[in-house]
Amino acid sequence: MSIASISALRGLLLTLLLVLTGCQPAPPAQTRIQGKTMGTYYVVTLSDSYPGGESALKSDVERLLARMNKEISTYDPDSLISRFNQGPDHTPFVIPPAMAIIVQQGIDAGKLTDGKLDVTVGPLVNLWGFGPDKRPVKRPDDAAIAAARQKVGIDKLTLTPQGDHFLLEKAIPALYLDLSTLGEGAAADEIAALLKHKGINNYLVEVAGAVRSKGNNSKGSPWRVAIVEPSDQPGAFSDIVIPNGMALSTAGSYRNYYELDGQRYSHIIDPATGQPITHKLVSASIITPTALEADALDTALMVMGPAQAMAFATRHQLAAYLIIKTDQGFKAEFTPQFAPYLAKKKS
Ligand code: ADP
Ligand code: MG
Repeated sequence: MSIASISALRGLLLTLLLVLTGCQPAPPAQTRIQGKTMGTYYVVTLSDSYPGGESALKSDVERLLARMNKEISTYDPDSLISRFNQGPDHTPFVIPPAMAIIVQQGIDAGKLTDGKLDVTVGPLVNLWGFGPDKRPVKRPDDAAIAAARQKVGIDKLTLTPQGDHFLLEKAIPALYLDLSTLGEGAAADEIAALLKHKGINNYLVEVAGAVRSKGNNSKGSPWRVAIVEPSDQPGAFSDIVIPNGMALSTAGSYRNYYELDGQRYSHIIDPATGQPITHKLVSASIITPTALEADALDTALMVMGPAQAMAFATRHQLAAYLIIKTDQGFKAEFTPQFAPYLAKKKS
């Protein structure tokens, strides 16, 4: 075929394509933004149009996340939390309400879970190399673990309301507040609140493992979220959840870990032993009205391990879904409260 006829054919194809796409009904409105925050990623998908469009949505969300990081990021030496951590004991430290909500959730979930979730666990997190400090080159010794444990305990932290603000106080100078495990849930809730304020009724917000959703996707059906199976197969998932306006949060030991002398160390620390968890629970998902609460409880379940986590979730009638490693692969277990949120599997 000559060059001329090839280009004529190309032209025809292009026209055909344009006609074809022109005949299609207008695609439903969908706005999707994504970015990085808190050492991870976020994605916001709307099937309503945002006032000011996609760029306004992105700048509003990023401004909100930047403000949150200035409050709770232990990676920013100048954030409020870092200044509190570096500051003296027995000195009331003023924090804004948004940060106080996160601290209060940490304290409440700590009490509810008998200290499995402990937002003062930072010295141990750092000792094991999962904080802003560097990775250890060898396993910390018992004396170092014991010394770090002396600095840990929710009883050494108090939060008191005062007017429009809250006062945070520590009983020992070395107390180190670490809200990392609640940050994703808190961010998902705050983005959801921003969207509500802007009159958006159909959205899916994902900040790493924390999800908030409302209404329907652009195809008019409820939002669906996959619980990822921690296997090596890309795209493998364990189940599909339809959160129906509720929040979903998943914590796992399979994403953030390192190996030292053949032993795998997860970034979730059992405050009772001062060591990373070693059991066979690989992920815990929770559905509650707010992502903050779900994010607090999923971490606590991860600390507990499979049997204790299931017993706790059953006792508190939580909608919980656990993925447990078996000799053959993985198995999922969930409470009756979780079942209504599972999409029916196609057989
Ligand atoms: P995941 O990736 O599993 O969702 P997160 O990033 O939400 O986990 O939380 C893990 C972080 O929480 C750790 O890096 C550490 O800073 C902190 N952390 C570890 N163990 C505990 C614990 N027992 N209680 C509270 N926070 C913890
Ligand atoms: Mg969590």
